[in-house]
Amino acid sequence: MQIPGQGQPGAAGRLYNFSAGPSALPAEVLQQAADEMLSWHGCGMSVMEMSHRGKEFGSILAQAFADLRELLAVPDNFRILFMQGGAIAENAIVPMNLIGRRAGFTPKADYVVTGTWSIKSQEEARKYGEVNIAASTEAQGFLSIPPVAEWRLSDDAAYVHLCTNETIVGVEYHEMPMIGQDSGSVVVADASSHILSRPIDFSRVGVVYAGAQKNIGPAGLTLVIVRDDLLDHALPITPTAFNWRIVSDADSMYNTPPTYAIYIAGLVFQWLKRQGGVAGIERANIAKAQLLYDYLDSSAFYVNRVDPACRSRMNVPFQLRDATRNDAFLEAARARGLVQLKGHKLVGGMRASIYNAMPLAGVQALIEFMREFERTSA
Ligand SMILES: *Cc1c(COP(=O)(O)O)cnc(C)c1O
Repeated sequence: MQIPGQGQPGAAGRLYNFSAGPSALPAEVLQQAADEMLSWHGCGMSVMEMSHRGKEFGSILAQAFADLRELLAVPDNFRILFMQGGAIAENAIVPMNLIGRRAGFTPKADYVVTGTWSIKSQEEARKYGEVNIAASTEAQGFLSIPPVAEWRLSDDAAYVHLCTNETIVGVEYHEMPMIGQDSGSVVVADASSHILSRPIDFSRVGVVYAGAQKNIGPAGLTLVIVRDDLLDHALPITPTAFNWRIVSDADSMYNTPPTYAIYIAGLVFQWLKRQGGVAGIERANIAKAQLLYDYLDSSAFYVNRVDPACRSRMNVPFQLRDATRNDAFLEAARARGLVQLKGHKLVGGMRASIYNAMPLAGVQALIEFMREFERTSA
């Protein structure tokens, strides 16, 4: 049995991990963290043991902010916040900070439902105000993204919430939709599972948030990028540690931040810069996704049913035409060092999550295995 090394030197024995999250990190990053574990830059302690107010961690935090701003070309009028609680906590933190934004209106927000994550987001928001479902593809099984022209946006909504990559069903917005500037609303995007895989058009969005554990680093860190005019509308019930204005003014250190997770995220940002930044990694992501979808479309044995115009570059669900072969598929894949391919229970079948850290060689190995499994199943 040959275990691939993810194409990275010194990484022998590592598997190709297709997990949807927490997911694979670049082997180079893990190796650097291992090398620096006991004594970071010779300072005599681990990053985990440092005061968050000391100059060592201060430099790690400042570098992480700067690198992320550069990678995503975040404009000056947006603040970057490192928070905690994951994207699911943001499902509450967003309405708490934003739903009361429009003076003279009752708190209200529009939600576009394109999969299981946007369903969860709108459910949570209902605790804080009125929710209008502007569009939903639930009745069609979440296989596409409804065109903006068909959204029924409210005149009085504080924001319109989207999940720009639905991790479970595998649909992705390939451009940030433009909603009318005169609507008074602003786009809020849950980008947890494709952040940093492609550029973000900040002229079309007011808030972007993401849990770290798919494309940024360890679970426990949550990224929020928010336009500065949206910081001052929190409902009085908002916990202080979740108030964007307070977190922003404290440079994400109102409470003790997840220091080690921020450090690893910072190493990932530097790794991304070495891959040619977001433009470079996007080219790699397009090549990986195209290879896999082309193979799926050419096969009579496997199928992906998502509208080709909305297929996710990050999460590729697929079914075996003969579902009785599912367990055999997973077992044989595992023996080849290809792991975490089982689909989410809501969709069934398989799912290959091919985030930034998955090399092209991993996708090639998966396809080679899938061909062989088809042959031997005939
Ligand atoms: C994983 C995921 C979440 C959940 O994140 P938590 O860190 O568990 O809160 C929410 N939204 C999307 C799009 C996700 O992929």
